[in-house]
Amino acid sequence: MIIVMKSDSTQEKLDAVVDRVKSFNLQAHLIQGDGQTIIGVVGLPLPPSLDEMFGIMPGVQTVLRVSKKYKLVGWDFHPQKTVIDLGDGVTIGGDSVSVMAGPCSVESEEQTISTAHAVRAAGATILRGGAFKPRTSPYEFRGLGERGLQILAQARAETGLKIITEVMTPSDVEKVAEYTDIFQIGARNSQNYLLLEEVGKAMKPVMLKRGLSMLIEEWLLAAEYVMAQGNPDVMLCERGIRTFENATRNTFDVSAVPVLQSMSHLPVIVDPSHAAGKRKFVDALSLAGVAAGADGVIVEVHPEPDQAMSDGAQSLNFDQFAKLTPKIKAVAEAIGRGLEIPDSVPA
Ligand code: PEP
Ligand code: MN
Repeated sequence: MIIVMKSDSTQEKLDAVVDRVKSFNLQAHLIQGDGQTIIGVVGLPLPPSLDEMFGIMPGVQTVLRVSKKYKLVGWDFHPQKTVIDLGDGVTIGGDSVSVMAGPCSVESEEQTISTAHAVRAAGATILRGGAFKPRTSPYEFRGLGERGLQILAQARAETGLKIITEVMTPSDVEKVAEYTDIFQIGARNSQNYLLLEEVGKAMKPVMLKRGLSMLIEEWLLAAEYVMAQGNPDVMLCERGIRTFENATRNTFDVSAVPVLQSMSHLPVIVDPSHAAGKRKFVDALSLAGVAAGADGVIVEVHPEPDQAMSDGAQSLNFDQFAKLTPKIKAVAEAIGRGLEIPDSVPA
């Protein structure tokens, strides 16, 4: 349910409505619009007479029921697009397209720090790198754990890049939060509801990847789990889905970008690397995603992709990545957006 306050209403009247909402054990999420405050009410059960009760409270303009299953992630609750502010002028979801790049796994200091410098020089604002790796086989490299997080933090200190890294289990959320700027929830964990709630409580931005066979509505409801804990900074990442086609690792669902944006105010990121699975297709999928309106691109980059401990086949080397970012910029400009460039990189 949405309670729209009158534009000339007072703080006192707003507080009274919020207190009333809480008295029913419901959550009140405040959204400041253009001169107007909207209160998004979620929780169960919503008594049937609630609309009328709130409709006659002082300062209330209208009360609307939202019939969609997802609430906080949808436009009804939040009519402005979400822009995530990572600090130091780095944002996601604004006018410009953000580029995140880095190795699939943090393997060593040298590998990660050299990659951080290279991707920064090429136009990335955010460094990716997995310290806790979900691997299909238990015998594959599963990441450096906390040492990996320390290396990422060192790379941030040296380059000014923000960092994004995966958290796989609720019990690691606190530790990962000490280091990261953005939590990545991987495809395999996208419906791990206890993990989603835990990152929802941690109050740091979250990038939620699409599950291997996830419907768009299921994906939005997974994001709803994070937001229902009070964390507004969620972005969605299309990384390809399972289909019958095996010429690529996954099938890149480019239509997910405009579809999500028609349903939700959350920023949408595309991951051409895990979609393609092969580096020769990464450029085309990146550009398609940006042309479709994605707010960001996350790309795997490695100093020596053929030696990588995970996902080498889909990783670009420094040179290949440096040739991709000007193309992303050109497509972003063609649709009236720019590329977010770190301060120290010449135009
Ligand atoms: C990754 O980003 O390296 C990764 C494991 O991605 P996904 O969860 O999309 O498979
Ligand atoms: Mn990977």
